[in-house]
Amino acid sequence: MALFKKKSKYIRINPNRSRLNEQNSTPEVPDELFAKCPSCKHMIYTKDLGQEKVCPFCCYNFRISAQERLNLVADADTFSERFTGIETTDPLNFPGYLDKLAAVKAKTALDEAVLTGTATIKGQKTALAIMDSNFIMASMGMVVGEKITRLFEYATIENLPVVIFTASGGARMQEGIMSLMQMAKISAAVKRHSNAGLLYLTVLTDPTTGGVTASFAMLGDIILAEPQTLIGFAGRRVIEQTVRENLPDDFQKAEFLQAHGFVDKIVKRTELATTIGQILKLHAKGNGDD
Ligand SMILES: [Zn+2]
Repeated sequence: MALFKKKSKYIRINPNRSRLNEQNSTPEVPDELFAKCPSCKHMIYTKDLGQEKVCPFCCYNFRISAQERLNLVADADTFSERFTGIETTDPLNFPGYLDKLAAVKAKTALDEAVLTGTATIKGQKTALAIMDSNFIMASMGMVVGEKITRLFEYATIENLPVVIFTASGGARMQEGIMSLMQMAKISAAVKRHSNAGLLYLTVLTDPTTGGVTASFAMLGDIILAEPQTLIGFAGRRVIEQTVRENLPDDFQKAEFLQAHGFVDKIVKRTELATTIGQILKLHAKGNGDD
């Protein structure tokens, strides 16, 4: 057991937990009733966060699961999941890794850290990938790399645009260099998709860091981001120690990246589906000079 356990700054929002202790019929105050905003520190009645889970005081976007994201952006009942059932080979025989994977799969009901498939967004058909930070911080290992690569290859054959919601702590250390190789593999698939004249749209969500930022997150033809999203490669402290300078407060925030030309547009979560739908429609084959 760790001597110094880091306390989570997030209050878990668990809709499945029973609100009544059935054994003694004593009402409990459920821990999901209120959530503390990590940005402005207000306590918020969770119902006031709405389906989008946006802080009503400061507009902070709470982290949401891939399924919640899918419900927000895709048209109802249009999502068809693809590229499931791919298993890692655990190349380093990393102690406890497979057990950890099994546990997190059961807890999140996800196949891996990214959900992949096809859907329509405001009527526009697209290949779609959504990363979920609840799954080992959405780190990118062999399976994540393979799922996203196959998604691009499928989209290239089927003449579909690709929309990816990124979120990641970086490469998956339990898979060593094999996880770093995914960066090159996915980038090659993105290039073949681009050569076919197809649109690739990324939406950077909190947090998008490490090898995901250094590869497919920043390769989009159009790069959107949610407000206040953390976007970076190395951590802030590492950079400060390397360049021996104090960095601005908003360094590695979406707003800072937009001001420096790395992000095209910051879009509120409530407006994302409409914005993506409009972009897809503008670039649809047959609409213009393709
Ligand atoms: Zn807030």
